[in-house]
Order: sequence, then structure tokens, then C-alpha cells
Amino acid sequence: QKPLAEADPDIARLIQEETRRQEEGLELIASENFVSPAVMQAMGSPLTNKYAEGYPGKRYYGGCEVVDQVEQIAIDRAKAIFKADHANVQPHSGSQANMAAYFALMQPGDTLLAMSLNFGGHLTHGSPVNFSGKLYKVVPYGLKQGDETIDYDEVARLAKEHGPRVIMAGASAYPRVIDFVRLKEIADSVNASLVVDMAHIAGLVAAGVHPSPVPHAEIVTSTTHKTLRGPRGGLILAKEQHAKVLNSQIFPGIQGGPLEHVIAAKAVAFGEAQKPEFKAYQQQIVKNAQALAEGLKSAGLRLVSGGTDNHLMLVDLRPRKLTGRTAEEALGKAGITVNKNMIPWDPEKPMTTSGIRVGTPAITTRGMGVAEMATVAKLISAALDAPGDDAALAKVKGEVKELCKQFPLYPGLG
Ligand code: PLP
Repeated sequence: QKPLAEADPDIARLIQEETRRQEEGLELIASENFVSPAVMQAMGSPLTNKYAEGYPGKRYYGGCEVVDQVEQIAIDRAKAIFKADHANVQPHSGSQANMAAYFALMQPGDTLLAMSLNFGGHLTHGSPVNFSGKLYKVVPYGLKQGDETIDYDEVARLAKEHGPRVIMAGASAYPRVIDFVRLKEIADSVNASLVVDMAHIAGLVAAGVHPSPVPHAEIVTSTTHKTLRGPRGGLILAKEQHAKVLNSQIFPGIQGGPLEHVIAAKAVAFGEAQKPEFKAYQQQIVKNAQALAEGLKSAGLRLVSGGTDNHLMLVDLRPRKLTGRTAEEALGKAGITVNKNMIPWDPEKPMTTSGIRVGTPAITTRGMGVAEMATVAKLISAALDAPGDDAALAKVKGEVKELCKQFPLYPGLG
């Protein structure tokens, strides 16, 4: 019954170190966020001990009467937030949510039309190194060269030409609103099913800040840990007619026992998402992204598509003669965390890239607002001005730490 610091000092020390890194740095990775202490408490609970293969009321293990209630609350809240017929809260990750959606609608060898990884799609949208690229015949779609937004005419043309079983929409690095109505029209015109992976924008959708895919898509998949600000995990929403087959694709199809402690944390996060403060938070994410975008443009950087409608922006570093890798490293030394990212038609390799992806969900959770975004843009620019100058980067890091100190994250934990 020893506390962690005594039972395992090595891991306790590293947890403290990571907590301090999060506390003192500017977290701009668009897919990350900071959960509430309540969400963390649910995750670190004895619910981790329970096996509960099956679904509430129909389990393959005894003693599930309590976790049944937990999982049912998570399901009911997810359905209420997104106005969905059916919710499955068991996927361990976004990737497994996508796998279950594909398995429910396609057979191996069928055709999948999805956004290319090079233009902002996710690995599970048909990358050759991923199960999705190995199991299905993948036809990728991309962006229009002029305004760098999704080329819906190309999607329609490719749909007609290849007759996909599934059209997948959604992205990991796309800064603009996605037109689900248009995509549904295209899917209907070729008898394909529309699946939307809203992982990045789920929080925005929950708050009505981005149009919802739920009325249009057969199946909607998501992660719970990005803008939605829950624990790491996946979620599937679907029309009633897919409920049974989807559930069976998750369990017993691709998973065993659900993580009931994580499902409890999902329920807590969904409860938070039902509160008015959550809507204000999501609106602030977008306002902050737009303010940061303006700041970065003023600093001489180009943004893919010229700006952002959502929580992220893609920065083209070529005007500053930098690669994504150099920028990620320099910003890292300055206490600013971003990830290098391909920009559309990127001449560089994926491990180098010409861009970085920058997002505001995490710093908005800390309470930063539009006023701070100007400072954040200046700090980014200062670091990019001196990528090889460790002293200059250390100076920026000091300023980053000062800024972060004004917006404490987990008081008492670091
Ligand atoms: N879908 C999209 C659009 C994503 O951006 C991601 C993760 O970055 C995933 C799915 C996969 O989620 P996970 O990392 O939980 O498997």
C-alpha cells in the first residue's frame, strides 16, 4: 500500500518530470490537450481491475453491475452530445475506431476513397504502411492547388471512376471547415457509405463550432483526447442500422476487455462537454487560432490555405528558409512543442518537411486568450530567427516559462 514515490521512485520521478515539462512549456501540438483532474482521477481508479467483455447488460464476466452503469452513462452522454442514434465507447484508440468502422462496411479488397496522408489525412485513411492501406484498394483525394482546400470536384470524379464502398472524410492536418453535406451527396451518387473521422474537431462539433457530420455520415469515428479533452481513447457514433454490426466489430472483432477506467474518464469528459463552459472553451480555441494565425503571418510566415477556421494551422516555413525538422528542434529547445508536418505538395521528405502544425486546444485549456496569442507568435518567431543559437533559444525558453507561470495547469502536481 505504498505511494508511488516510495513503491517506484524511478517512475514517480519521471511522472513529475513530465508534469513539469507540461507545466512550463507551450504545448502547441494540435492533437493534444490537458484533461481535468476529475478525468485523471477516473482513469486512475480501481475500475482498471475489472474485466467486462461484452456490453452493458450482456457481459461474459460476473461482477459487472457497477461498470455497466458507468459504461451506460458514457454511451448516453455521447449520444446526447452528438445527437447520435448509437454510440460505442469501447475503442481503445482512434485507430481501432476506424478499423471497426471499415470492418463494418467493407470486405478486404474493397475500394476506399480517402484523403491522402500528404494532404492532411490520417495513417488509418489508407496509408500503405497501415492496415487500411494493406487491406483495401485505396484511392486518395487531395486539395485544390489554388486555395489549398479539399477538391470536392476531384472527390466526385474519383468516386464515379472507382466506385468506392466507403468514402472517408476527416483529417489530422486540415485547417478549414469540411463540407459534409457535399461529401454525402457524392457518396449517395455512387452508392458508397460516408464515414467521417472527426477526431481532431470532435470538441468543436460537440459545441456547435464546426458543422456536425452526424446527420450525414453512416458512421462517425473519433478520438476522445484531442479537442474533446477526454482521456486517450476512441469513440464511434452510428446510425441505428449499423449498431449491431459495429458493436460486434469492436468486441469480439478486434478487442477483448474494454478499459472501464478509461470509459469512466470518457463519461466524465462527456459530462464536462455538456456544460456551457465547454462551448465557451471551444469558441475560444478558434478565436485563439485565428489570432495566432494573424500573429504568425505578421511574422512573415505563410499559412496553408491562408489561415484557419478551426483549432489548427499549417505553417509553411519556406519563406523563412527553414525545414519542419529544424523548426521543431529549435522550438523544442525554446520550450515550445509543435510537430513537423508535410505541407501540400511538399518538396521535402516526411522526416524533414517544409512545415509545422500548430494548434491552440491545449494553451486555451490553460486559460490563454487572444492577448497571449500575440506573445506566443512573437516567441515562435524569435525561436525561428535563431534556430542554431542555443543561448537565444534558452532566452526564449525563459520567457515561455514566465508566460506559462501565469496560467498554472496542475497546481501542486509538478
Ligand atoms: N484519426 C485522426 C484524424 C487522427 O488525427 C488520429 C490521431 O492522430 C487518429 C485517427 C488516431 O488516433 P489514435 O492515435 O488514438 O489511434
